[in-house]
Amino acid sequence: MFTKYQKIYAKRARGLFDNWRVVMVILTQAVFYGVLWLEWNGRQAVLLHLVERKFYIFGIVFWPQDIIYLAIILIVSAYALFLVTAIAGRLFCGYACPQTVYTQLFMWIENWVEGDRNARIKLDNGPLNARKIRIKLTKHLLWGALAVWTGFTLVGYFSPVKDLWQNLLTWNLGGWETFWIFFYGGFTYLMAGSMRELVCRHMCPYARFQSVMFDPDTLIITYDAERGEPRGVRQQGRNSESGQGDCVDCGLCVRVCPTGIDIRNGLQYECIGCASCVDVCDEVMGKLGLPKGLVRYSTENAMARHLGQKEILGHIVRPRVLGYAAVLVLVLIISAWFLSNRIPLKVDVIRDRSMLSREVDDGRIENIYTLNVMNTEEKVHRYRITVDGLAGIELAGKADIEVPAASAMSVIVPVRVSPESGKSGANPIRFQVVAERNPDIRVQEKASFLLP
Ligand code: SF4
Ligand code: SF4
Repeated sequence: MFTKYQKIYAKRARGLFDNWRVVMVILTQAVFYGVLWLEWNGRQAVLLHLVERKFYIFGIVFWPQDIIYLAIILIVSAYALFLVTAIAGRLFCGYACPQTVYTQLFMWIENWVEGDRNARIKLDNGPLNARKIRIKLTKHLLWGALAVWTGFTLVGYFSPVKDLWQNLLTWNLGGWETFWIFFYGGFTYLMAGSMRELVCRHMCPYARFQSVMFDPDTLIITYDAERGEPRGVRQQGRNSESGQGDCVDCGLCVRVCPTGIDIRNGLQYECIGCASCVDVCDEVMGKLGLPKGLVRYSTENAMARHLGQKEILGHIVRPRVLGYAAVLVLVLIISAWFLSNRIPLKVDVIRDRSMLSREVDDGRIENIYTLNVMNTEEKVHRYRITVDGLAGIELAGKADIEVPAASAMSVIVPVRVSPESGKSGANPIRFQVVAERNPDIRVQEKASFLLP
């Protein structure tokens, strides 16, 4: 806590895993920056419309009453993460976590503007002159532009993006929209531009609790100490007589590490599994004519028992993994069942509490209800309302209602019955709302009818 913060100047490592990270950054950001511009049924394909309180996800409209689906998404995400962590350790951290992805984007800009590690160190340690100001200003302007665009994109998922874009062009953005664009933009700038590895080391809760999902067969980045030690500078080509290990102590694995650790000291919680040290060490080994894999993806078991790749793969299926997979599959099946049986109609019945019951001209007793009918499909529906549960019970008003696409409508429904049809007090009744053109779309709601 009391050590002076040392800025990390990570060198970019090129290689197989860096290529995978590029692919992941492109894929995740193509989805994030792109999906909100897609159209579906003449509206934004993915829109979490907070003002209308409706979530549009392609062909489905979710209402606040569908909160269960949010719970399901959270459970599925959590178990998918547990499963991936148990099998492959911090794969998510290294390739798909937003903190990694945005840090990567910001670092690419930094590399492009300021140069690689040595150039950056030289620039930071050099005097403040016009060149330094120009380079720093360019970097921060580019970072700022990316951060604001990220904030704009996020807000575009909650407020129709085309209107937002028009308002931005005409300087007509609302106060809240402006606040959230700059708040999230500033947050991105701070996390990916300034704090970087500090977020992973000190703020991320996942880094702390993931160790409970690890076991000796979890894939981690490891240094093969048996092969690498004793380390030291050596000449090109293998020299089996010297008794030296393969590690030439070049320090490159430390220089490329975004969290500034030395993987040769063993597994550390700061390691985000980015595999930059694997890429760079493979390059070093290649130049020395030695086999790759001094630093590699492996498992504790494999290192201790000298297991090969096939045996490592054979250890993937184990009780912990099966447990996470079973829960995940179960939750997926349940959610698929819920989705396929989802009826695009919701009805709330509210009894008029200002008047319990009253006698009308023909001697019958009347109760009044408000039916809130929600059409969650994106087409207009005409619904027929009926009521049963007491002999001779009938609606005294409108028996059908037309509700526009993806809208809700309230209708006041007086219900009448003769006094001798039930007991004094509350009597259970049932409202039925059925779509005229599709009788499968029907909902029954219970209510009670008060007799004097
Ligand atoms: S990159 Fe490889 S050879 Fe160089 S110090 Fe690290 S482990 Fe040793
Ligand atoms: S030690 Fe971990 S965080 Fe550092 S470069 Fe290697 S994999 Fe990445």
